[in-house]
Amino acid sequence: MTSRDDRKILLSESEMPTQWYNIVPDLPAPPPPALHPGTKEPAGPADFEPLFPMALIMQEVSMDQYIDIPGEVLDVYRMWRPSPLYRARGLEKALDTPARIYYKYEGVSPAGSHKPNTAVPQAYYNKAEGVTKLTTETGAGQWGTALAFACALFDMTCEIWQVRSSYDQKPYRKAMIETFGGVIHPSPSDLTEAGRAILQANPASPGSLGIAISEAVEMAAPDPEVKYALGSVLNHVLMHQTIIGEEALLQLAKVDETPDVLVGCTGGGSNFGGLAFPFMREKMAGKMDPRVLAVEPAACPSLTKGVYAYDFGDTAGMTPLMKMHTLGHDFVPDPIHAGGLRYHGLAPVISHIYELGMMDAISINQTECFEAGVKFARTEGIVPAPEPTHALAGTIRQALEAKEAGEERVILTALCGHGHLDMAAYDRYFSGEMVDYDFPEEKVQDAMNRIPAV
Ligand SMILES: *Cc1c(COP(=O)(O)O)cnc(C)c1O
Repeated sequence: MTSRDDRKILLSESEMPTQWYNIVPDLPAPPPPALHPGTKEPAGPADFEPLFPMALIMQEVSMDQYIDIPGEVLDVYRMWRPSPLYRARGLEKALDTPARIYYKYEGVSPAGSHKPNTAVPQAYYNKAEGVTKLTTETGAGQWGTALAFACALFDMTCEIWQVRSSYDQKPYRKAMIETFGGVIHPSPSDLTEAGRAILQANPASPGSLGIAISEAVEMAAPDPEVKYALGSVLNHVLMHQTIIGEEALLQLAKVDETPDVLVGCTGGGSNFGGLAFPFMREKMAGKMDPRVLAVEPAACPSLTKGVYAYDFGDTAGMTPLMKMHTLGHDFVPDPIHAGGLRYHGLAPVISHIYELGMMDAISINQTECFEAGVKFARTEGIVPAPEPTHALAGTIRQALEAKEAGEERVILTALCGHGHLDMAAYDRYFSGEMVDYDFPEEKVQDAMNRIPAV
C-alpha cells in the first residue's frame, strides 16, 4: 500500500489517463475569441490554417470536455509517463513545517521538462496532415529540445529560433537539439525580415520569445508543407499538459490527500494550467477547494503588472490578436536566467480565469528563487530548472506561512523540469553575480503604448 509517508507515489502504465481535459466548456463564462490582426473580427479556423494543422485548430476551439489521446501518442508518453509524484519530506524537514509538500516531477521526460507532453501530439497531428517540417521558437531550450525529439520520432524536420540571451547562456541545448536532429539559430537572426529589422535597430538585442516567434512564424506561413508549433499559451497546448494534473489527482487520491494550495510557475502558462485545470474542475464541482497560485518572475510579471487587453503573440505583430495579460508585444524582458518565463503575455485561458477571480498570482525575484532551488536540491536531490525555482520559492513561502499559523497545509507544486543544462545560471548565483532587476516601469509603459486599439 502506498502511504503519505512514502517518498514517491507512482502509477503503473495501465493507470495512465487516456484523455486530455479541456477546461473551456466548464468555465462560468467563455473566454473572448482570438481576433484577425487585420479585420479585428473573430478569427476563424481558416485564419490559423497557414500555421497549424486542422486537427489542432479544432482542438483550439473545441467545446468538448475531454479529448481522447491517440494511441500512437499514448505509446510515446509511456517512455516516461506516468511521471512520479514525490512527497518532499526532506524539504519539509529542513523548513520544520507542518505542511505536507508534494511535487509532480516532469524532469523525467526526454527533454527534461513537461514540454514533450505537447510536442509529441503536435508532431503527430502535423504528420497525419502531410506536414514535413515544423518551425518554432525556444527560450531556455526546453521547448526546442522537446519538439526536435518529437520530430525525430515522426520523421519530420525541425527548425528552431532560440532567444539569443539563452543561446549564449546554455550552449549544451544546441548540442542536445542537434542530437535529436533539429536545426537551431540564435534569434534575432538575419534569416528573416522580422529578425533583420530588430538587428538593424539594435545589433546587440538579447532577443525575446516574441521576436523568436515572429521569425519561426515568418518561415512557416508561406509553405503548406511547413507549419509552426507553439510550446505554450494556446488552448490546445495547455490541454495536452493536463495529463500532468490528471495523473496528480490519481496519485494524491492513492494517499487520500486533497491539496489546500496549488503553486506553479507561469511563462506562457502551460505547466501551470496542465497541473491546475483538472483540480479546478474538481473545485468547480465542489469536491475540493484548493487555492490556485501562479508565481511569475519579478522582471516579467504579465499577470500582476500587465494589462488585460488584445495583443499580438509575437513582436512583429503577425499572429492573431489574443485577449490576455500582456506587458506589450514588443517588451523585451531583462535577461533573467529563467528563459522560459521571459514572455510578454500569458495564456488567454489563464488570463480569463484570473479575471474571473478563480486564482491568484504573485511575482518573485530570481535570487530568492535560486535560493529556493538550492535548498530544494540539497534536501530532495533534484537540481531544478530556473523556471520551477519560482514555483519552489512560492511553495517555501506557503510552507513557512503554514508553520507560522501552525497549520497542516497540503501543498502541491509542479517541478516542471530539471536544470542539468542550466548550471551556468547556478554558477552565477554562487559567484554572487546574479542580480535582481527592478520592474522596468518605463520600458513597460512604452511597450504598452503600442498594444493595438481594438
Ligand atoms: C517552457 C518552460 C516553462 C515556461 O512555460 P509554461 O508554458 O509557462 O510552462 C517553465 N518551466 C520549464 C521547465 C519550461 O521548459
